[in-house]
Amino acid sequence: ERERPVEGRETRLRVVLRVRPLTCTETRRGDQQVVHSLGEGAVHVSAARHDATFGFSAVFDAGASQEAVFEGSGMRQLVELAMDGFSCTVFAFGQTGSGKTYTLMGPLAQSEAQPASPAVLGLMQRSFTCLLEQSRSRGTDLALSASYLEIYNEQVRDLLSPGPPCALPLRWSKTRGFYVENQLSVEFESLEAIVSLLLQGSQRRRTSAHALNRHSSRSHALLTIHIRSRAVRAHPAPGASTCPKQGTLCFVDLAGSERVKETGSSGELSVEANSINRSLLALGHCISLLAKPRGKRTHIPYRDSKLTRLLARSLGGSGITLMVACISPSSRCLSETLSTLHYASRAQ
Ligand code: ADP
Ligand code: MG
Repeated sequence: ERERPVEGRETRLRVVLRVRPLTCTETRRGDQQVVHSLGEGAVHVSAARHDATFGFSAVFDAGASQEAVFEGSGMRQLVELAMDGFSCTVFAFGQTGSGKTYTLMGPLAQSEAQPASPAVLGLMQRSFTCLLEQSRSRGTDLALSASYLEIYNEQVRDLLSPGPPCALPLRWSKTRGFYVENQLSVEFESLEAIVSLLLQGSQRRRTSAHALNRHSSRSHALLTIHIRSRAVRAHPAPGASTCPKQGTLCFVDLAGSERVKETGSSGELSVEANSINRSLLALGHCISLLAKPRGKRTHIPYRDSKLTRLLARSLGGSGITLMVACISPSSRCLSETLSTLHYASRAQ
């Protein structure tokens, strides 16, 4: 029998930090590097009027490979727990351009004809591979399906269903908790199939708004893998359970956390800004309340945003969460970097 994760902060929620390298543009214009990893999960920010150290479960600096992030963040354990029937969630948090999408999916190939090089594959592809490998080595039969949603301006849209995206209602029932009505769930069996779904969904996400680039940084994207696993070995180990387990593995690419500057004229932008801030604040609020010992916990306000409703089961209950805070090392991003570091520190 596999051990259940113990009730403890370290296993229920891990917060790791990833510092991306300076980009060519940043290097060319001579941006200062203000973030330095001190080793052992500590990071130091030093700039003119700032001097602060923060601690996380792990820190990945500019030299860390995608593989190092997968192995060092606890992602492998998360995949295994999802196979054991737990609800596991990984979310990437940080300002636009800090490396959230790169961490989750790598520089996703534009088409299936040009697959990305294996070295730069992100946490998602590595998790799918791990899932399939584990099922082979454990001798379990897996039934996998995926759903892919985005939340934009507090509206939930299905990224897998064909046709123009329309808003789907978010409902609650006693048995299911919060769920999205009419959400498409697509079965898949191979790495190629799920990567192709991911590409289609990401393309739909990019083209669904007129304000192309801005759109994807202003919406949250949630890819959920539903895992049903059943032992098929002819002679199961004594005591091993043969009843199917149902777990989920959810990847959340959060909207950019930067404070959206209102340009005044367009009302649209302020609606966006409000809904992003509201959901990120609600998420931070739920996480910090969940950090309290069970007995001292008050009501957790999942209902405050669509994002926290959708993540309620993973954040509470027997869910296990990995938060990857992403930052830029550049002096120009200092204030957003400090705000990400504070947000991530408060979560743990
Ligand atoms: P976000 O999703 O947070 O807006 P991206 O993931 O799109 O940010 O990253 C911004 C840019 O930086 C992209 O061009 C991406 O390829 C690059 N980048 C981000 N993280 C890394 C990294 N660890 N190594 C190399 N390039 C990176
Ligand atoms: Mg992105």
